[in-house]
Amino acid sequence: MGGTVLLTGAAGFVGSHLTDRLVREGYRVIAVDNCSTGSWDNLAHWDNHPQVQKIQHDVITPLAVTEPLDWVMHFASPASPPKYLGLPLATLRVNSEGTYHLLELARQKGAQFFLASTSEIYGDPLEHPQREDYWGHVNCTGPRSVYDEAKRYAEAMTLAFHRQYGLSVRIIRIFNTHGPRMDPDDGRVVTNFIQQALRGEPLTIYGDGSQTRSFQYIDDLIEGIVRLMGVNYPYPVNLGNPEELTVLALAQVIQELTGTQSPIHFYPLPQDDPKQRRPDITLARTKLDWYPQVDLRTGLRHTIADLRRRC
Ligand code: NAD
Ligand code: UDP
Repeated sequence: MGGTVLLTGAAGFVGSHLTDRLVREGYRVIAVDNCSTGSWDNLAHWDNHPQVQKIQHDVITPLAVTEPLDWVMHFASPASPPKYLGLPLATLRVNSEGTYHLLELARQKGAQFFLASTSEIYGDPLEHPQREDYWGHVNCTGPRSVYDEAKRYAEAMTLAFHRQYGLSVRIIRIFNTHGPRMDPDDGRVVTNFIQQALRGEPLTIYGDGSQTRSFQYIDDLIEGIVRLMGVNYPYPVNLGNPEELTVLALAQVIQELTGTQSPIHFYPLPQDDPKQRRPDITLARTKLDWYPQVDLRTGLRHTIADLRRRC
């Protein structure tokens, strides 16, 4: 491998791990971020390294790049529900205008384009598990639409560039992912429960805890991304761990792994909160020979250790 990658969202959770991997694969990474939900601290270990250049920029506006690029990888976007609900217009714009400008940049440079999309495009799914050919069940004017619909638009725009200009593109639909460097205060369920458990505070379950999610460990996601870079397939690919559990069961696993005495408290379920989510990963298995290697408990032990160190 090798070449130059412009990676947006590089100072975030997923982007910083992807930067690490790309550098190890021999790429030079132009790391672009506006630090709205991420931090350059996540890339501090690459300070002054010749393969990593950091650019503070909001990708809602076009970015002038003078050098040749091999890849434009668009990972910038608020991702946790409390963050994107608090940044509704910025979320819509980074995934719509931002995606457009970055696709144009890839086209001008003759680079390949890689979009980080999400399982959220399936909305509150009526089909289970979710295959890539399921069209989803999304409330297009509800509060979550600023993220769901923006990502759906980003996928449509990416495939329009592919169809109209022949641009080489990749699209991944990422399912709930956790690991070191998550923002402890991002409000996602994994960080909330772990922080609450470590502080001896009650674990806050929204609803009755019967809704399900499937959590993958960051290293598995990064492996899937790198494999897809090497395969010329323009349509969406699910990347997630099919190990599904209820939110109540997750709380109990975190209670056990942290050894906390924290009780569980129940709060109202947010509007349009998906009741179930599990990826069908047949496509990733077939196209990429990819299957998650890290089970839930092993992954959570790493995430807990990281948050214990930082909080
Ligand atoms: P994150 O918030 O940690 O990282 C996102 C990064 O994008 C942040 O560093 C933020 O500052 C940056 N950013 C946001 N708007 C920007 C803008 N306009 N210009 C420049 N930079 C901007 O979130 P994450 O979990 O690392 O998510 C990364 C990508 O993966 C996102 O596109 C997200 O939608 C997608 N995703 C993540 C998950 C998950 O479970 N982590 C699940 C599905 C999809
Ligand atoms: N959730 C919860 N307690 C929390 C945070 C989240 O019960 O403190 C629930 C949330 O309502 C959802 C699930 O956990 O049903 C996953 O939420 P998260 O915000 O991590 O991501 P989502 O999958 O909803 O995008």
